[in-house]
Amino acid sequence: MKETPVLGRVKLNDEPGRLAALYRYQVLDTGPERPFETVVSLIEDLLETPICAVNLLDADRQWFKARRGLDVCETARDIAFCNQTIKQAEPLIVPDAAADPRFAENSMVTGEPHIRAYAGVPLVSPDGYQIGTLCAIDTKPRDFAEHEIKLLTKCAKLVVDELELRLQAGTDELTGVMSRRYWMMTVQEEIQRAARNANLLSIAMFDIDKFKRINDTYGHAFGDLVIKSVVNACLEHVRAGSKLGRLGGEEFVLLFTECALDQAVVAAERCRRAIEDIRLTAPNGDEVRVTASFGVAPLFSYSLSSDDLIELADRALYRAKHAGRNRLEVGQVAANIYPDSA
Ligand code: GH3
Ligand code: MG
Ligand code: MG
Repeated sequence: MKETPVLGRVKLNDEPGRLAALYRYQVLDTGPERPFETVVSLIEDLLETPICAVNLLDADRQWFKARRGLDVCETARDIAFCNQTIKQAEPLIVPDAAADPRFAENSMVTGEPHIRAYAGVPLVSPDGYQIGTLCAIDTKPRDFAEHEIKLLTKCAKLVVDELELRLQAGTDELTGVMSRRYWMMTVQEEIQRAARNANLLSIAMFDIDKFKRINDTYGHAFGDLVIKSVVNACLEHVRAGSKLGRLGGEEFVLLFTECALDQAVVAAERCRRAIEDIRLTAPNGDEVRVTASFGVAPLFSYSLSSDDLIELADRALYRAKHAGRNRLEVGQVAANIYPDSA
């Protein structure tokens, strides 16, 4: 796993980069989860502060992923102590906020939750962005000992490590697209969303044709390059938000949300042609071309699962392979049941 950067390599003046680093984790507005709950309860027990939080700084709010002693799950960003913490590459320690001209008039000091003492450590992403803080707060003045700040700092690293692990588990290492597991989870959520909003949704599965021959002729490393080129060609030809996942090997799947079957077919055809247009030079100087076969499946009933959709697309893909490859087939469903309106 990537290491959290040492202080000094922190990027303090790049708010768009900072927000992008935060959004990459897709953690805002998610529910309580054990690793973060454990961290705040550890801080609560060991620092004996009535308030503590894993706090993420969004564009104009602070949002608490985990909290103790706070009634609300977010507040405006401009009054947040943590907003000051992320502006510096070190912990912010305020022993008595009422006696500190920076905070004495702050509405969180003069009113709820009556902050008097504050210790906050930045949550630093591996690429050096301070996405939030881990903070401990008291309602009476107090000092924070060095070992307490060290503990906060270590726990802040744990929080970022947890976020990173989740991100990496959801990303395919070779291509950077979604892992199979993460894609399947996403589709399941999108199916439910489509059902709630009576939206259409389709998927397009594709598999590189005769790929084994490329590996056998030019070697595995060149095969990897072909896989990456295919992914890039596809990403250039689908609208932002179409989610691409690697099901395994040289088999991929695209998710088209709010998209009728005919639009999904058009988008998948664009990808097929873009793959067909790829020209690569092999290590021995050969010009290498590549094609892929596609199977498209619509969500014809809101009772379908992600596995049902994959199976439907897989059968269409199988037909595309048997009909000669480098072509697209649509999963066949009875015409009178598409789309339903649950
Ligand atoms: P078809 O047109 O029927 O799909 O033929 P194919 O040769 O593409 O099908 P097959 O499934 O037999 O071969 C897929 C090959 O992909 C076999 C496997 O060694 C290779 N492969 C799987 N994952 C990777 C990878 O990450 N990198 C490389 N270079 N090759 C991989
Ligand atoms: Mg193949
Ligand atoms: Mg295959």
